Amino acid sequence: MTPPTTGARAVQLRPETQRLRREVRDFLAEERAAGTVMGRPDSWLTGWDPGFTRRLAERGWVGMALPKEYGGGGRGNLERYVVIEELLAAGAPVSAHWVADRQAGPSILRHGTEEQRRRFLPRIAAGRCFFSIGMSEQHAGSDLAAVRTRAERTDDGWRLTGTKTWTGGAHLNDYAIVLARTDDESGDRHAGLSQFIVGLRDPRVRIEPIRLLSGEHTFNYFHLEGVELGADALLGRPGDGWRQVTGELALERSGPERFLSTVPLLTALVEQLRRGACTPEQHTRVGRLTARLSSIRQLSLGVAAALEAGRPADVQAALVKDLGTRFEGELVNEVREILPTAARTDTTKGSYPELLATAILHSPGYTLRGGTNEILRGIITRGLELPS
Ligand SMILES: Cc1cc2nc3c(=O)[nH]c(=O)nc-3n(C[C@H](O)[C@H](O)[C@H](O)COP(=O)(O)OP(=O)(O)OC[C@H]3O[C@@H](n4cnc5c(N)ncnc54)[C@H](O)[C@@H]3O)c2cc1C
Repeated sequence: MTPPTTGARAVQLRPETQRLRREVRDFLAEERAAGTVMGRPDSWLTGWDPGFTRRLAERGWVGMALPKEYGGGGRGNLERYVVIEELLAAGAPVSAHWVADRQAGPSILRHGTEEQRRRFLPRIAAGRCFFSIGMSEQHAGSDLAAVRTRAERTDDGWRLTGTKTWTGGAHLNDYAIVLARTDDESGDRHAGLSQFIVGLRDPRVRIEPIRLLSGEHTFNYFHLEGVELGADALLGRPGDGWRQVTGELALERSGPERFLSTVPLLTALVEQLRRGACTPEQHTRVGRLTARLSSIRQLSLGVAAALEAGRPADVQAALVKDLGTRFEGELVNEVREILPTAARTDTTKGSYPELLATAILHSPGYTLRGGTNEILRGIITRGLELPS
């Protein structure tokens, strides 16, 4: 029987892209020597360091795929891919600009007015304007079309009321792109949704922390208590919110942050093993993890290449997220078995037991964030090219 296929293709990076990789590694070595905190699991979620973001931006590595006329680097998806995979593998503190660079910038470029592009994109590329994702609500996570946040028309714009949940960085960032219902007259749940750019320091925005198991504050409830917005806060056309959000999710799901989040722990493990006598079994198990990592990376690179070529890649993106996020959690369990160590939060930050504790305490989120794996498997099953 012929197996079903995904249409994924192998990718070869060009020599100039590999040169860019070396430049990023040199930059990271300088940063490490200067004392920037590196090597942390989940650094794209919790490593908030605006100074580091600005230094990256000075090199042209934030907003690098945005057009030059809006302050971006005018470079390709694969070049951006190489930069971000190096940053994530090093556990560099990239969370300040992560959402702005990955999805808010591209979304504003695609759906925004000329005035919105000129207002936001140059500041995003300069590493000076940070965004959160305002999609999920208490009863609308997997079923995103169930959002209850309402946007009502006013004389000169919109009034937003509702509560978003799991909003990463809302207490630190400048804006959130909020999905809200603008019309519920039509029977189609997907129609009547729109997106808005909301300033997070608005006095009618109330932010309430949600703590991770580790006690860290990265997430929030984010209450919109009758927030008054001008007409220019609408992103895209009224009623196009669903189409816009699904486009954003494709960017959110396939990148290297879906399999590299815990790789700094693997690097730390290898450092530990180097210091002692590594047994053949430990060696083999690290090798197996590395082989899995390498195959998921090839699939993810294939998605980046497909997006660059304008080919659809929704099924491959869902596959990357399913395989990649399961790998992130399984890596933590494997590492615990390869070198049994007591994980500790009450010890030196950056020490091996502390990194292990961080990766364990973040584990419940790996397969949930960005859409749960159960939902993604539905997308994969529907999208596989089955032999006729
Ligand atoms: C670490 C983390 C960061 C996040 N960051 C953000 C953020 O910044 N902004 C934002 O808007 N959201 C964010 N989210 C929210 C995230 O997108 C949602 O948690 C996710 O979409 C799941 O929604 P839910 O939590 O409501 O779970 P539910 O939808 O209630 O699902 C609960 C369980 O039921 C299963 N399930 C639900 N429906 C089906 C179905 N049809 N078939 C099979 N199984 C099903 C799910 O797979 C899951 O296991 C974040 C979440 C996490 C954990």
